[in-house]
Amino acid sequence: MLLSDWTKSYPIIAGVIPRLPHERIAPKHEVTAAYRQELHSHGLDYKRFITGRQVHGCEAHIVTLGDVTRDLVCDGLVTRDAMLGVGIVTADCLPVLFFDGNATVVAAAHAGWRGLAGGILEATVKAMSMPHNNIHAYIGAAICQDCFEVGPEVAEAFVECDTHIKPGRGDRVHIDLYGIATQQLQSLGIQNITQSSDCTRCLHGKYWSHRHHGWQRGNQLTFIALPGGIYCE
Ligand SMILES: [Zn+2]
Repeated sequence: MLLSDWTKSYPIIAGVIPRLPHERIAPKHEVTAAYRQELHSHGLDYKRFITGRQVHGCEAHIVTLGDVTRDLVCDGLVTRDAMLGVGIVTADCLPVLFFDGNATVVAAAHAGWRGLAGGILEATVKAMSMPHNNIHAYIGAAICQDCFEVGPEVAEAFVECDTHIKPGRGDRVHIDLYGIATQQLQSLGIQNITQSSDCTRCLHGKYWSHRHHGWQRGNQLTFIALPGGIYCE
């Protein structure tokens, strides 16, 4: 699915491909083939996309096409290279995409609760090196507050965001990751924020959800690119 509603006024290609396989549940050649076929269905070349090896950290890297074969350990990817698309894989965590209003730079960030607490959104936005009021952000499908029940230790990571935390059973709490991400983006001066209304766990037939499927799951790929050389030949 292309996110053309979000990018309609700008020359940006962005999309989400739900329920891609992972090597946990399918042979490697089938996983590669699925990514290739799904991107090809949008006319996009699989070999021109990069996803980092995500570790729930807060490092963002600036990348070019030459980095496609590198093993990049990071949760944020930024590029000005129109020959390259950047993507994030998730299954309940927030995928967040960015571009600037002049369409010169794009970025993707993987933000679960650890990444949000550690500052992955701020790190990614800083690496874009753009006036923040010129940046557009999209928060893709992730787990909703009702579905995201966690222990009190997680709430302690968000003492400045307590309006996005509500009590659950016993000492458990429900955290609104969408709300926290929006608050963080707004505090960075980003006002152009769009978000998916889908919950990956509520809609576990449409998306992979770690809370629902456990490790017997694949991922969603959420990607963004400047238009240029990323199309299939
Ligand atoms: Zn839900």
